Amino acid sequence: MNLVLLGPPGSGKGTQGERLAAQSGVPKFATGDILRDAVRRGTPLGNDAKRYMDAGELVPDEVVLGLVREALATPEAAAGFILDGFPRTVAQAEGLQALLEERDTKLDAVVYFDVPEEELIRRLAGRRSCPSCGAVFNVHSDPPAVAGTCDSCGSELETREDDREETVRVRLRVYQEHTEPLLRWYGEDSVLREVAAVGSVEEVYGKLLAVVDGS
Ligand code: AMP
Repeated sequence: MNLVLLGPPGSGKGTQGERLAAQSGVPKFATGDILRDAVRRGTPLGNDAKRYMDAGELVPDEVVLGLVREALATPEAAAGFILDGFPRTVAQAEGLQALLEERDTKLDAVVYFDVPEEELIRRLAGRRSCPSCGAVFNVHSDPPAVAGTCDSCGSELETREDDREETVRVRLRVYQEHTEPLLRWYGEDSVLREVAAVGSVEEVYGKLLAVVDGS
């Protein structure tokens, strides 16, 4: 199964991808998670990427493509992958296509998570993330057992710098300008599937399984 999960920030593709990866055993690679990890570790790449991320802008294509090239070269990706948050520009989609051709493989499906903008803003404002282990909660839809504390590792939860309202608006604009054109790009192929990503996590997961069934 070679999948791309496409959608605006807050559309739930990370949460859904996590479940699908756990259930199917196919690894998920989220460029946002890989970048945040590099920032946490203070690597040169992380230090470089941080200013783009904090501002809600995209990290340059060649940097992100390099990360995906590395991820796809790992042994665990040999049998398939779920990409979350990548590609985000037409140039990245072209780069991914070239990488897949090199490996003599192709995408089975690109799943688009469709969510109205007001709902995205509400979800992102309610999102709380664990700075230590990366677990994500939502004060409205998926609260931790103890308010403000990570269920997985007990660390104090934070609002991600880029989940603050002004930055959320920048991220949504960046999405519309750079990522939305991918719907047309993949739409010309028969791989694009759409999920109305509203409702409970359970409901959306059911819709996701229905569109990737057989991939
Ligand atoms: P995410 O967790 O997917 O919302 O990503 C958080 C931030 O990481 C984005 O706002 C970008 O700054 C950066 N980022 C993640 N994935 C990409 C990508 N494919 N291309 C460029 N920047 C990315």
